[in-house]
Amino acid sequence: MKYEKVEAIVAKHYPLGETSNILVLLTKERGKLKAVAKGNKKLKNALFGGTQPVTYSEFVLYNGKGGLKTITQYKAIDPFMKIKSDLVKTAWALFYLEVCQDFFQQEEENRPLFDLLYQTLRFLEQYEGDMRVLEISFLMHLFSVIGYMPEMNFCSNCKKDWKAQKTEEAFYFSAKKGGVLCPDCSDGILDEKIYLGDVKMLSALRDWDYKDLERLKIPEKNIRFYESILIPFLEYYMERKIKSIDFIKKLN
Ligand SMILES: [Zn+2]
Repeated sequence: MKYEKVEAIVAKHYPLGETSNILVLLTKERGKLKAVAKGNKKLKNALFGGTQPVTYSEFVLYNGKGGLKTITQYKAIDPFMKIKSDLVKTAWALFYLEVCQDFFQQEEENRPLFDLLYQTLRFLEQYEGDMRVLEISFLMHLFSVIGYMPEMNFCSNCKKDWKAQKTEEAFYFSAKKGGVLCPDCSDGILDEKIYLGDVKMLSALRDWDYKDLERLKIPEKNIRFYESILIPFLEYYMERKIKSIDFIKKLN
């Protein structure tokens, strides 16, 4: 197949020589792909306009020698203009793209992940609620899609049933162990204390549609807590730090 057509969200681009760019495409049909967007100075704006990060476009790719793909045509499907015109939303979009990028395999379809990413960006575009509520909900949806849901019903070590406890006993969250630990199994120092109410809230954020989020009020300290346990959990699986988080922190 010399030519192929894909729909993709542009995750990032970086320069190749003086005038070309390499784009990282998160496609609907074929997972993650890299493709060259050739350009010259005159054509620069025309060519790169629809190939900017945070744009959903249709691409025609030419499969050249050695597996090199070149973009021969493209058409923007959804340019997410309301995200691009808002610095805070752009920062969050780049966070969602950075995270999803790591879970797409090269040239391997992952429709549930693509759908989650597209739905998240579409929702972000018109979202007026708390950005961190959307972030936590996205993370819980992501864990479900990639099959790395933290264990929150049983102690990840001894399998003690948390919900069967008579008292509202706190457990501890350990990113390393992949979920909660009972007080006997946690050292209580490195792990964060977590309550059953938190598990209930996180489950709701996983199960609910995004449209339910805007009317949801979650205290700031709880959101910060969810972030403080879920980001390290995610980074543990990614085996790296999420870079775009630093920029988001600077905006606050
Ligand atoms: Zn235990």
